Amino acid sequence: METAVLGKKQTNLIKSLVQEQRAFFNEGATKDINFRIKQLKKLRKTIVDYQDKILDALYKDLRKSETEGYLTEVGFVLNDLDEAIAKTKNWARPKPVGTPLFHMKGSSYIHYDPYGVTLTISPWNYPFQLLLAPVVGAIAAGNTCILKPSEFAENTSKVIMEMVSENFDSNYLAVVEGGIPENIALLEEQFDYIFFTGSTQVGKIVYQAAAKHLTPVTLELGGKSPCIVDKHIQLEYTAKRIVFGKLINAGQTCIAPDYILVHKDIREKLVKEIKKQITSFYGEDPSQSSDYGRIINKKHFKRLMKLMKSGDICFGGQSNEEDKYIGPTLLENVQPDDPIMKEEIFGPILPIIEFNELEEAIQFINDRPKPLALYLFSKRQSHVDKVMRQTSSGGACINDTIMHIANPNLPFGGVGPSGIGAYHSESTFKTFSHEKSVLHKSFLVDVPIRYAPYGRNSGILKMMMKYLNK
Ligand code: NAD
Repeated sequence: METAVLGKKQTNLIKSLVQEQRAFFNEGATKDINFRIKQLKKLRKTIVDYQDKILDALYKDLRKSETEGYLTEVGFVLNDLDEAIAKTKNWARPKPVGTPLFHMKGSSYIHYDPYGVTLTISPWNYPFQLLLAPVVGAIAAGNTCILKPSEFAENTSKVIMEMVSENFDSNYLAVVEGGIPENIALLEEQFDYIFFTGSTQVGKIVYQAAAKHLTPVTLELGGKSPCIVDKHIQLEYTAKRIVFGKLINAGQTCIAPDYILVHKDIREKLVKEIKKQITSFYGEDPSQSSDYGRIINKKHFKRLMKLMKSGDICFGGQSNEEDKYIGPTLLENVQPDDPIMKEEIFGPILPIIEFNELEEAIQFINDRPKPLALYLFSKRQSHVDKVMRQTSSGGACINDTIMHIANPNLPFGGVGPSGIGAYHSESTFKTFSHEKSVLHKSFLVDVPIRYAPYGRNSGILKMMMKYLNK
């Protein structure tokens, strides 16, 4: 792992960037709702202006087709911006809450305070969406932002740098490009909020760095997301939805189904249908399909080729190192302690493991770290209830894969090793806001018995405690 330390000059640049953003935040301009909405509109226009360059960079980095690039990256962020532009005023309005009689006469509300200077660090797999979507919420909530794109999606990183630096003052929005040294230098600084998306391993480093300053964090991490396939299903749709979620972005999706746990009675039929659907999506030779992506770099290509040695290949297995191409691959006879079951696959390789009883599948999942997503295909409500009750995962999707991320009403995040916190839509706004609890008392009434000396009032006070929650 690269561990070089950044030179003094660059470290000082990062330091002064944070200081300038803090000074600008302290001036108070970002707290004005109209300012926030203006900036959101400006960001929207900037992204539309840069759309072709962004899509081109995504193609260069990950061979993302224009359609996929728009749907999962640019369009995703534009949708978030449209919602934030329309709803920020409402989101930011203080929310009244009840006030117990005991506090006569007063009112209570939640006031949404921006944290201040925020840092968003993103990975390479959805290099545009995962950097900009949090920033939409950070702006809506009234913060300043430093954006750190992934160095591995270098073309996208460059375009984001150009797009932001040419359109925004760096004391408000600024991009810091680079790798581990830049991240280390950034994490030395005191931020008011850190939003990190990436691996569990690096998430721990970020959490430790944040702890030094007691900086609150959101950690959107990874892990192995299981997919249970019961015997009571609609076979064709099940296969299609699994292939869709597994092979979009060539399997490099944090919530891609990592492995399948299928009931033994249906395994053969499911494998046959998955093979059929892969061919119908990407043709006989997926390397020729304009809709099939590539692995981000040779390091990950080599890692995936090693993982492919677990179990037996029953479909696919083709690869081309120069092109960073790995075809859709199905593995059978995988053992629980094989290397492929020890780490997040993050590529187009799908192990298929069979079970006899649903309890076995549940046990298999519960013996492993809590996943970011859990998928279950089943027509039986009792089976759905059982899996939902007896497992813990960041999110879940029944009878589909990855689509829960596309419902803005569902906060998205992990649990335990798959993450801390959640975002999307209003949750992103709340993530970047401190919920300040305010009790506002009037001068009209003043209950004297609460003051010392308590004497005989002690009994009355104890009795009044009962009405605290009324
Ligand atoms: P990563 O953790 O290697 O890198 C993420 C970011 O951290 C990058 O910007 C990188 O520059 C920085 N970084 C890397 N090493 C660092 C270090 N030692 N100190 C400080 N910063 C460092 O992750 P990745 O390989 O870019 O992305 C893949 C991982 O991200 C997978 O585990 C995937 O599941 C996860 N992921 C999670 C989500 C989610 O929403 N939960 C989304 C996408 C990806």
